[in-house]
Amino acid sequence: MKNSYTCLVVGAGPAGSSAAYTFAKNGIDVCVVDKAVFPREKLCGGLLTSRTKKNFLDVFESGWEEVYECKTNGALFFHKGQLINAIENYGELYFCNRSTFDNRLLEKATSTGADVVLGERVEFVDTTAKSCLLGSGRELRYRYLIGADGANSIVTRAVTSKGFDRSSYAFAVQAETPDRACRQNGTARPEIYFGEVDWGYGWVFPKKNSCSVGLGGLFPKNRNIRTRFSEFYTARNGQPCSVPLKGHYIPFGNYARNAVSKDCILVGDASGLVDPITGEGIAFAIESGQHAAHAVISAISGSTTSVADDYEKYYSKITREMDRANMIRNFLFSEYTKALFIGALSRTRTMPYHFMDLMSGVISYKDLFSIIQQKVKKLVFW
Ligand SMILES: Cc1cc2nc3c(=O)[nH]c(=O)nc-3n(C[C@H](O)[C@H](O)[C@H](O)COP(=O)(O)OP(=O)(O)OC[C@H]3O[C@@H](n4cnc5c(N)ncnc54)[C@H](O)[C@@H]3O)c2cc1C
Repeated sequence: MKNSYTCLVVGAGPAGSSAAYTFAKNGIDVCVVDKAVFPREKLCGGLLTSRTKKNFLDVFESGWEEVYECKTNGALFFHKGQLINAIENYGELYFCNRSTFDNRLLEKATSTGADVVLGERVEFVDTTAKSCLLGSGRELRYRYLIGADGANSIVTRAVTSKGFDRSSYAFAVQAETPDRACRQNGTARPEIYFGEVDWGYGWVFPKKNSCSVGLGGLFPKNRNIRTRFSEFYTARNGQPCSVPLKGHYIPFGNYARNAVSKDCILVGDASGLVDPITGEGIAFAIESGQHAAHAVISAISGSTTSVADDYEKYYSKITREMDRANMIRNFLFSEYTKALFIGALSRTRTMPYHFMDLMSGVISYKDLFSIIQQKVKKLVFW
């Protein structure tokens, strides 16, 4: 049993497995440690956009067909329970079961040569001694550390010395219900619900044999989210939800200002890389895991002087886009302007397509901003 690695990855979600796979593929000695035993449950809507597909194939090259359960090409949009628009023939929207998805990614990393320690929580990170202390008392030493341990990351706390501040996070609740709940409209298209929570939205996403029904929004604005979920579910399905409701925090535009510290890089939810409007995080987790691994590989090979050189270029590009999203979020969700957004979504044929393009990474927030400006001008002046 080795206790010292060139690279140690904490967390075996999409971000951690993407980093571990990239290290192993490049012949770097790597170990990934996770507190859970895989396959493990992960609360998630499981929507995989074409951005996720692209990032997945960039890293793992093949195997996309094995990681999702179903796909659809349309979506239904609701506001306060009323259908306001629908799209068809959109293109690629995939849905996965996160337990299977994450397990498959981890298998890819281990079969490529990454060592793995499962069922062991990292209890303490010593960035000076470069070691992680596990729950069993075992100590793992590293030269480079990747913090991929999710929204409540112990690595982030060790590196940034910042506590977990719930006020800047979203909180989401979700139930995995029998599949009739998402096929009641005679279709398995995903449903997106505005007006059910503040600064967020609701969803019903189809899976192979079930569907995920959830609500998520900025935590300080939705302290009663469980009650709102009960009302939402009962109104939609005509009966109360009889399966367990689970909840989890999501970073929501509050990305880490410094994702690199000495020889440690934060990736995925651990650095807050979740879209502050759509809540999409899997694509960014895979992408950031890969970029972090490449930054370390460049530093090891001597082509850069530190891991920060490469990674910060990528990170500043992606966080600029998050900043734009944070600005646009004020328009979409604020009390004063949200009616304009709902008006555009319900009265124009193209707006729902733009929203899906945004979710899929086909257009950027900069593009969406100019589109919204044009739509609002039309709505106000015509
Ligand atoms: C309700 C909900 C719905 C969502 N829906 C979607 C969606 O439809 N599409 C989408 O793209 N995104 C969605 N997201 C966001 C998405 O789930 C995350 O962005 C994504 O999982 C981030 O991946 P990650 O690898 O960074 O972290 P995670 O997937 O959270 O993985 C972190 C891993 O670290 C491990 N870990 C944590 N602490 C420790 C420790 N101390 N020691 C060892 N291991 C540790 C955990 O066990 C876990 O396996 C949703 C999130 C929520 C909460």
